[in-house]
Amino acid sequence: MSSRIVIGGTAAARGMALGRARLVQPSQIRIDERPLAENEIEPEVERLRAALQHARDDLNVLREKLHGALAREVGEFIDAHSLILDDPELTEGLYALIRKGRYRAGAALKMQRDRLAAAFDAIDDPYFRSRREDIDHVIGRVQAVLNRDTTPAERQIAARVGTILVGDTIAPAEVAHLTEHGVLGLVTTGGSALSHSAILARSLRLPMVVGAREALERLTDDDLLLIDGGSGEIVAHPTAQDLAHYRQFQREQARSQDLLARFTHAPSLTGDGIHIHLYANAEMPADLAQAHACGAEGVGLYRTEFLFLQRRELPDEDEQFNAYRDVVMAMAGAPVTIRTLDLGADKADATGLALAAEPNPALGVRGVRLTLRRPAVFAAQLRAILRAGAFGPVRVLVPMVTIAEEIRAVRALIEDCARELRSSGHEIADHYELGAMIEVPAAAIALPTLIRHVDFVAIGTNDLTQYLLAADRNNDALGELYDPLHPAVLKLLAQIIAIGARAQKPVTLCGEMAADTRCTPLLLALGLTGFSMHPSSLLEVRQAVASCDHARLRKLASRLLRAQTRAGIERVLASAV
Ligand code: PEP
Ligand code: MG
Repeated sequence: MSSRIVIGGTAAARGMALGRARLVQPSQIRIDERPLAENEIEPEVERLRAALQHARDDLNVLREKLHGALAREVGEFIDAHSLILDDPELTEGLYALIRKGRYRAGAALKMQRDRLAAAFDAIDDPYFRSRREDIDHVIGRVQAVLNRDTTPAERQIAARVGTILVGDTIAPAEVAHLTEHGVLGLVTTGGSALSHSAILARSLRLPMVVGAREALERLTDDDLLLIDGGSGEIVAHPTAQDLAHYRQFQREQARSQDLLARFTHAPSLTGDGIHIHLYANAEMPADLAQAHACGAEGVGLYRTEFLFLQRRELPDEDEQFNAYRDVVMAMAGAPVTIRTLDLGADKADATGLALAAEPNPALGVRGVRLTLRRPAVFAAQLRAILRAGAFGPVRVLVPMVTIAEEIRAVRALIEDCARELRSSGHEIADHYELGAMIEVPAAAIALPTLIRHVDFVAIGTNDLTQYLLAADRNNDALGELYDPLHPAVLKLLAQIIAIGARAQKPVTLCGEMAADTRCTPLLLALGLTGFSMHPSSLLEVRQAVASCDHARLRKLASRLLRAQTRAGIERVLASAV
């Protein structure tokens, strides 16, 4: 029986998933180099013969599953690979290595692969180079069979479930396509819960564990995996007890959905009756349906870059207009905050819009810095937003604002676009609001003057935390340091909220912190009245808001700001209960 393996990682997207491991970058297969004893030789030949046969069977199964154009294209590869598997030069060579050289099957395969690779490398011809790749794939397939450590019962379950992708990192653009391809969960050895891939995974309700350093080393393709995106635990070859735990999770999930349903149509009020505005962050059409269903007051953050990430050419004005209009229509009269393109840093696109390589992309040409340098691309987006505004209230949100001039430049561009659209007979919003993301510390500190130039502000704590603490949000090695509850972050948040209140301009917090119910009382204490989060967390936050006494919390603000640690904050908050 294959033994249970537990691998730890960091929770990135809640939910559990049971599936077959699919290794994106298979680890170096461990090769047993010890020579065989005399009596081990024939059993090893048999083991290899069986593995070769298994690999052939796998290819045949794959061929039968293919239909249409895909069958023709992929069929050619399968034929080539089957031919290699049947090639006596390869197989006899392998058996000879085992019998004469006393190599174990894995070591013999590696030896043959290296020999053939060297022979192909010596030939300067693209066809032969691609043949070399074929050989790599075939030998990799046989190695995987030899290393497969699964019982027949496990294989039977595994054949019925989808896959869990295991890789070093997974790009946001890839994540967007995964659910359509039967992917049920994600595991990465690097990455962080704050990366855009993790944000997308949460949007797609795809359980995800990041920072699982040992995953590629210890897992093999087709291992049956149970992952828990809420605790960060990965279990390979789960036991009956693990599976029972999973079923229990599924039952609890259904129960808590029922409980939360009570909050679906409830107003968002604190225990003492203060109205708190809860908005939704949205990336995908499914988010909008959910936002509407759980009674979000509007969309507080629509990240438009995902329209740009899944493709090679830029979406034109009409395509963007259609997408934004759909969002506005889906929200049926509730305001929709559309953030202008925030490419750069960890969201490099395939369209070539973002600068190719920057020495320090997080501090480089991203967000409004990029769009102001590409006025034609920016104008197409702004025109599309203005046109969508004819169908319902829109707010334009500008990312990565550092200085007031950037906002002034964006406003001027919007005004130009509005004039042109009107004169060419387009229907557009009669009114729009322009806001700045406050995520660069300089903008937060200069907010008393900057705020005159905007109609509202949205606090981006994901970036504000990274820039204030000089801790890369995507680097899990800095997980401890990257803490939105650091006293400096809290102090700045309190200032931003107070400046917004004085200027009578709405302030919403739309970083991941807004969805964390452990932070709800703290943020209410600092005076925050607008939260924007993924709709899957909205009912929980509404429930948390209902359990808070606003007046009591507000009195704790200065003590909370003096607290030095998370435990200190919790102690202060406990006194409000
Ligand atoms: C943020 O920085 O907090 C934010 C909401 O924007 P993003 O996560 O897209 O950078
Ligand atoms: Mg940001």
